[in-house]
Amino acid sequence: MKTLFRCLVALAVAVGPAVAPAAELAKPPVATNHPLAFIDSSFENASPVWYEFAPDGTVLIHLLYDQERSSPNRAAGHIHFLLQAKPGARLILEFKNLDNVWNGISGSVARELKTAVISENGRDWKSVPLEHLATNRVRLHVEMPGPRLYVARVKPYRLSDLDKFLAAIRPNPLVQVSAIGRTVQGRELEIIRMGYPQAPSRLLLRARAHPWETAGNWMVEGLVRRLLRDDADAKEYLKRYCVYILPMANKDGVALGRTRFNLQGRDLNRHWDKPADPQLAPEDAALEKWLEGMIKAGHPPHLALELHNDGSGQLHLSRPPVPDLTRYLQRMAILEELLRKHTWSTEGSTKAGTRNPGTLGDGWLERYGIDAAVHEFNCNWIAGLKDYPSARHWQTYGEKLATVFYEYFGSVKP
Ligand SMILES: [Zn+2]
Repeated sequence: MKTLFRCLVALAVAVGPAVAPAAELAKPPVATNHPLAFIDSSFENASPVWYEFAPDGTVLIHLLYDQERSSPNRAAGHIHFLLQAKPGARLILEFKNLDNVWNGISGSVARELKTAVISENGRDWKSVPLEHLATNRVRLHVEMPGPRLYVARVKPYRLSDLDKFLAAIRPNPLVQVSAIGRTVQGRELEIIRMGYPQAPSRLLLRARAHPWETAGNWMVEGLVRRLLRDDADAKEYLKRYCVYILPMANKDGVALGRTRFNLQGRDLNRHWDKPADPQLAPEDAALEKWLEGMIKAGHPPHLALELHNDGSGQLHLSRPPVPDLTRYLQRMAILEELLRKHTWSTEGSTKAGTRNPGTLGDGWLERYGIDAAVHEFNCNWIAGLKDYPSARHWQTYGEKLATVFYEYFGSVKP
C-alpha cells in the first residue's frame, strides 16, 4: 500500500501541474437551444465558413477569404453550405467578410449580393432575395422545410458535374476530349473539341477561372448539347465553326470552395500580358501552351470568350494599343448585336476607354492578335427575361449561342 502511494505521488510529480482545474474539465458542453444544430461545409465545393450566434439569434456566417499572391487583393463571395436545423425553424443568416479588396481597392461585394439559391436535396434549387441593411450588411431569411437545407450564391456546378457531362458527351464522334496539363494540386485540365477541326472558323471558350462563377459551365453545357442535336441547323453550324472549350480552369478552387484565386494565389484572368508562370499558374501555362501549339499548326482560334459572373453582365471589351483595334471593336459590335438578336442579353459592352490589362481578353488581343473578350453573366437578375438567373436560363443562352456564332462567323470571315 505504501509503495502504491509513493508511486501515485511520483506520477503526480512527473505529470506536473494540471492544465485546467478539475471542476472546469467536468463541466458539460454549453448547450444551445438555438434551432440551428450545425453548418456542414465539408463536402465538394462547399465554402469554408465559421459561424456564431448574435444575441438576437441571428447566425453570423463568416466567409473565408482567399488571398492573391504579392498583392493586397483578397476575395470572399462563394457561398455553398448545408444547414442542419429543426424543421420549420425560421433562421436569419448574416454574411460577414464581404469587404473584399479588388485591384488594390477596398470594396464590399454586398451590393452585388442580391439573391441566393436554396435546395433541400442539392439538385433542385430556387432563388431567394437577400435583405440589405445599412453598412453593407446582407441577410438571408429561410424557413427550414425539413432538417437539411443547402444554401448557395448561384446554382453550384462541381467537378463531379463536369465529370458526368464529359462522360455523357465523350462517346459522340463529334467530341474529342484532350488533356492539356494539370492544376497546382495535379487535377487534369481538359479541352473539349466540339465539331470538325477542318471547319473554316474556330472558337475558344474558357469557364471557371474564378471558381464561384458557375454560369460559364451551364452555358457550355447548353451550347454543346445544342450542337450535338443531330438536326439540319446543327449540321450547318458545324460546317462553319469548330468550338474548343476549357470548361473548368480553376478546378482546385472549385473543389475546395474558393472564390477567386488558384492555390498559389494567382488570378487566372490576370497576367495574360506576359508568358504564364508554370509554377504559380500551371492552369494558364497549359492553356497558353495549347494556344501556341494551335498557332504553330496554323489553326489559331478566331474568337475567344472568357466566361464569368458579376453583378452587371456586360461584354468586357478591353482596348490595348494594337494596330487593329478598330477592326476588333467593329467585330465585337457585330457579336454584341447578334447576342441581342438571339439571346436574352441586353446588358451591352463596356464603354469606350475601358482597359483591363492582363485579362485574357486584353492579353490575347495584344500578344496574339486574337479577337478575345470577357463575357460576364449577371448573377442577380436577367433584365432581358425579367427573372432571376438560373442554370436553365444559362443553358438556354448557350443553346442560342450556337446560332450567334454561326451568324458571327458568316459575317466575320476568317
Ligand atoms: Zn470573374
